[in-house]
Amino acid sequence: MHQTSQSWQQQLAAGFSQIDELCEFLSLPQLNMECASNHFAVKVPIEFAQRMEKGNPNDPLLKQVLPLQQELLDVPGFNHDPVGDIPASKQTGIIHKYHGRVLLITTGGCAINCRYCFRRNFPYPDFQLNRSQYQHVLDYIQSRADISEVILSGGDPLLLHDDKLMQLIIQLDEIQHIQRIRIHSRIPVVLPSRISEQLCSQFSSIKAKLIMVVHCNHSQELNQPVYMACQQLKKAGVSLLNQSVLLKDINDNAQQLTQLSEKLFSFDVLPYYLHLLDKASGTAHFEVDEETAIVIINEVKQLLPGYLVPKLVKEQAGKQSKTVIC
Ligand SMILES: *Cc1c(COP(=O)(O)O)cnc(C)c1O
Ligand code: SF4
Repeated sequence: MHQTSQSWQQQLAAGFSQIDELCEFLSLPQLNMECASNHFAVKVPIEFAQRMEKGNPNDPLLKQVLPLQQELLDVPGFNHDPVGDIPASKQTGIIHKYHGRVLLITTGGCAINCRYCFRRNFPYPDFQLNRSQYQHVLDYIQSRADISEVILSGGDPLLLHDDKLMQLIIQLDEIQHIQRIRIHSRIPVVLPSRISEQLCSQFSSIKAKLIMVVHCNHSQELNQPVYMACQQLKKAGVSLLNQSVLLKDINDNAQQLTQLSEKLFSFDVLPYYLHLLDKASGTAHFEVDEETAIVIINEVKQLLPGYLVPKLVKEQAGKQSKTVIC
């Protein structure tokens, strides 16, 4: 594999979309999981699969992307829109639930398909803001002086090409009351080749504070290319934060969460949120209950300085902010 000579788009296109190919790459026996992957496609960048341990069916990175028959179970309490976002965002591309911050759905796609994700059930996998929605978004933000921060979300906003992404960021930067532009992206972790010098030099010319909230769940996701991507972003003046999801048999113990926080900090990324799973259909087998989560995070607090302990949060429909549990 000649990673460095390929563009990130080529890297993305070359990723695994068939479970048998991924299993072969990992020297694992073929697994019959087609039913689940018909529901929500398999998508794994090669650079991410390379961090998995060969021959280990319980690898914590593999578990995040491997479709299981359990996804097809109908579990009470798990539904298609656990946080109540779909009706509003589908029409406008905007989710304005919290004071001072507005979240934009810039694209429906991601570089990786995480099996535990609430987005697996979103009805618009290829959603893109069309021209009139785009203008509506800018008008909406322009006309509300109490909005100081715009969050680019998705899907994964870094899946947009540089010119589209920068056009949006520059237009937001021109709005006087916008002080912060935040990008929520798993790409610096799963497809670090996307973070180019060219992109970073454009970031560094933005007046507003840029924040990138990456998404990493396990210390094994953090390798040298991810380190380089984080350093480039940092040099461009981007503040780096991380959010994780607490996932059963993946990162649901204090040792792993401690190691994750320490490694993130050595990459210049501060832990921000540790989310309880959003109860989306097909994700029940990843759930860690709230009481267990509290026990784990309290253990983490005894092991780490306060600034390395992420806030344990959950999202509840209709609330004015994330609910901080601990
Ligand atoms: C999570 C979220 C935010 C950001 O919340 P912070 O607590 O500021 O990180 C904003 N808008 C929506 C709709 C969200 O779900
Ligand atoms: S939105 Fe985030 S968690 Fe969900 S599939 Fe995309 S990268 Fe994974």
